[in-house]
Amino acid sequence: MTDSFADRLLNWYDNHGRHNLPWHHDRNAYRVWVSEIMLQQTQVATVIPYFEAFMASFPDVQALAAAPVDDVLSHWSGLGYYARARNLHKAARQVVDEHGGEFPQDQETLETLTGIGRSTAAAIIAQAFGKRAAILDGNVKRVLARYHAVPGWPGQTPVLKQLWQHAEQHTPDERVRDYTQGIMDLGAMVCTRSKPACESCPVNNDCQAYARNETKLYPGSKPKKEKPEKTTWMLILEDNEGRILLERRPPSGIWGGLWSLPELDPAYGAEELQEACETKLGLACSDPQLIGGFRHTFSHYHLHIQPAKLPVTGSTKVADADSQRWVHRDQALTLGLPAPTRTLLTEPEQTTLL
Ligand code: SF4
Repeated sequence: MTDSFADRLLNWYDNHGRHNLPWHHDRNAYRVWVSEIMLQQTQVATVIPYFEAFMASFPDVQALAAAPVDDVLSHWSGLGYYARARNLHKAARQVVDEHGGEFPQDQETLETLTGIGRSTAAAIIAQAFGKRAAILDGNVKRVLARYHAVPGWPGQTPVLKQLWQHAEQHTPDERVRDYTQGIMDLGAMVCTRSKPACESCPVNNDCQAYARNETKLYPGSKPKKEKPEKTTWMLILEDNEGRILLERRPPSGIWGGLWSLPELDPAYGAEELQEACETKLGLACSDPQLIGGFRHTFSHYHLHIQPAKLPVTGSTKVADADSQRWVHRDQALTLGLPAPTRTLLTEPEQTTLL
């Protein structure tokens, strides 16, 4: 089937698209997969150095499967959405244990791997194996929602279904690898979220949103819901050798598997922190110093973090040596850390004595 949308897009890609991204070299399923997962919610320019460091440490799926999850998380530190890294690690083990170290080449089997959805599976099939498969990542959703003036938020099933139909319809039989990269590039470089450069777009002559001067309306936004606000104490417990106590978070949930500063329930008043450290953590401390608090925003809530620094005066023995560690700051920075913990360990402190 010839689709004039695809022809125009491919022509544009030949002249203006990105042909030299790191995952275009030595292109294989593993490299395409890692790049696709990193590119979810993250821009190409941010991803490139992470991708290169990741490939230097884990050059193939066997190396990734054999690595401790801590190493994988530490390579992800700063990219956010850490479930992506944990899923990547799990899926690498599935590929090695269940598929003899070779990526499956069909959509259905690829989608059984942890963290691989329909669009990522299709990107692997198209980019790595050169077979026809339609993708629909965030950039493509935006292009197609505008081109066809599809109303509604793409998170709603009927809207998503329509977008998939359009994606399937436009995907060509030939040059699917270039088409896939081309439509992602068009979304990232021309049909951008705000102020799309419609005058230089290869499909502007029949783009419905452009014709109606309504590009701002597509894709529709997510219905607004106020994010709940939560508060926590975050403790910088420092022993007399300058080591800080870190705790490993449970494997699932917020910051799953990362090393974080210990937290205490906000119900404790500042004057109760010393006692709470003694009863909850078994650590005797001197007076706390409160450090300027800040807000960290997750996709589904805001977290107000009130840090407090407490010098540990007695024994540093901790209850659970597997999930609690005393580390020097420079050593801590090599671990997988949530962004607020990293900030508190690196940035100058504005302290106010209690
Ligand atoms: S004409 Fe504008 S809105 Fe339509 S696809 Fe191109 S860049 Fe996007």
